[in-house]
Amino acid sequence: MYTILIVEDNEMNWDMLSRRLQRRGYRTVVATDGGEGVRLALELRPDLILMDMSLPVLDGWEATRRVKADAATSDIPIIALTAHAMSGDEEKARAAGCDDFDTKPVDLERLLPRIEAFLPPAPRAVDTGPLAADAHEADPHA
Ligand code: MN
Repeated sequence: MYTILIVEDNEMNWDMLSRRLQRRGYRTVVATDGGEGVRLALELRPDLILMDMSLPVLDGWEATRRVKADAATSDIPIIALTAHAMSGDEEKARAAGCDDFDTKPVDLERLLPRIEAFLPPAPRAVDTGPLAADAHEADPHA
């Protein structure tokens, strides 16, 4: 199960994102300011971070720079979420080290493919059954 760290200070937003991502099979952890986001990224090593840009303590750009500057967390993909589709925001997010970018309000159907580009969904059990059985038979130590 993939863990997604949601760094978002607006309760309505993180609550909605968290519940909907959990329904899709992700484990979610929420940080409500940029400093907590950086700390939880290091502590939990999530598989992906959704980063709001307008945050208390450290804004999303600075939090992203710190996560990307630390070798322990630099590989974690970060998708920036900005409230305004202002020109320059995407460029600014990418310059800070964000791997992808989407705008708020969040449209989960638009955001999910961006998440899945970094976290490929697990194959359905019905697809892995025969493969798993073959692998078992082929294993001389089984
Ligand atoms: Mn915010």
